[in-house]
Amino acid sequence: METRTTADAARVLVVEDEPVLRACIADGLTDAGFQVTSLADGTDFAARVDTVRPDVSILDVMLPGTGGFGLAEHLRTHSRSSVVFLTARDSVSDRLAGFEAGADDYLVKPFVMAELVARVRAVLRRSGKLRSTTLQVADLVIDEDAGQVMRAGEPVSVTATELRLLCYLARHRGLVLSKTQILTQVWGYEAYDPNLVEAYVSVLRRKLEKEGTRLIHTVRGIGYRMSDTR
Ligand code: CA
Repeated sequence: METRTTADAARVLVVEDEPVLRACIADGLTDAGFQVTSLADGTDFAARVDTVRPDVSILDVMLPGTGGFGLAEHLRTHSRSSVVFLTARDSVSDRLAGFEAGADDYLVKPFVMAELVARVRAVLRRSGKLRSTTLQVADLVIDEDAGQVMRAGEPVSVTATELRLLCYLARHRGLVLSKTQILTQVWGYEAYDPNLVEAYVSVLRRKLEKEGTRLIHTVRGIGYRMSDTR
């Protein structure tokens, strides 16, 4: 069991037997500010749930031993955790079985990390467990859940993808992020064209930096850094 801690963050329990995917989910959710505990299977599940006290649990459906539906049953009767299922299967009957097993949401593999983060936030918000979600860099204020962006008190209209990119940059303000890192976290692993990042950054700059100071800085040969100072 591996636990990484961020003070006062929502607690997420991940059960996924595929090690690369498990690490990837844990990294993505930690990056998004959650306190993440990840398990490879449901061994000692009851004890671990008691220790972690998850706000939301992300359960792979197909696991060695007790599967995701069985673990969800335990969570439903012994905890206050919300449940998001991950599965490779996508038939209507599987989805229905998931919701009958107490799913709050259901995500089919392969998925984009930003999509999982958005679903987890939505589930937490619906269950009233989400704490502060506003991101601020200088006079830029982003309400991720409401999808609202304000610069110097003026609303800025952005698309869903632009919002995900903006939130990713803002959450890592002051840090240099490579184009590959940004592609992986905002668009997912199937995306591999760094020009996509450039195109979206230039749109965001047009929308956000019309009159205000520069917020998204180019780091030559690497990627970008969001900051209100040069
Ligand atoms: Ca599995």
